[in-house]
Amino acid sequence: MRTPVLAGNWKMYLTPAEGRQMIEALRPLVEGVADREIVLCPPFTALAAAADAIEGSNISIGGQNVHPAREGAFTGEIAPPMLKALGCRYVIIGHSERRQYFGETDATVAEKVRAALAEELIPIVCVGETLEQREKGVTNPVVEIQVRQGLDGLSPEELSGLIIAYEPIWAIGTGRTASPDDAQQVCAFIRSVMARLAGEGAQKTRILYGGSVKPDNIKELMNQPDIDGALVGGASLKAESFARIVRFE
Ligand code: 13P
Repeated sequence: MRTPVLAGNWKMYLTPAEGRQMIEALRPLVEGVADREIVLCPPFTALAAAADAIEGSNISIGGQNVHPAREGAFTGEIAPPMLKALGCRYVIIGHSERRQYFGETDATVAEKVRAALAEELIPIVCVGETLEQREKGVTNPVVEIQVRQGLDGLSPEELSGLIIAYEPIWAIGTGRTASPDDAQQVCAFIRSVMARLAGEGAQKTRILYGGSVKPDNIKELMNQPDIDGALVGGASLKAESFARIVRFE
């Protein structure tokens, strides 16, 4: 019912030439995979090369961040129409690294989500708790606040069209994956929060898991009823490992 999304977040890795090479190697490995969305989010500097390299394939591209204004005197920032013009269909918003190192808050996330939607970009909105919060048993309330405030003011239709990525911070780049059961529980909880905001539309919202996703754990994660895909960091940098994740192998 919900089309799975397998998204790679390259973070601050790969030059345009390296990105092109990765995509050229990936294309034949995922050719013919038609029942899921395959997304790569390169750094801004590699977007143009990536857009060229995916031409005519089943792979889409997205940004890793966006500024909420359409244009303006914001040195170093990128506006939603600029991503759109490069061929982006998606944009990651509120990644925990942006929250942790660049001062992003649920309020800035809400602004960026609205700006992305206005440009018909599909936001991939990231939420997730720290290790300390998990150990204190406050994962659900923390994630609920992030979802409610980050998606503040959106219509049920907008809510059903966007993507949420549940990324527990303690599982990012640590090799420590949330167990499929733990990930499922939080993703199901997120869907229940979405149901209160969007009603029936919450059944359409894709909810991804992120945090040390690898070829050897993707299958079990995808078997969970409320996990609709993955947001993949390290394992998306190599064509071979990302292709295996895309194919659930
Ligand atoms: P890793 O897959 O490297 O743990 O990164 C996850 C992530 O942050 C994706 O956005």
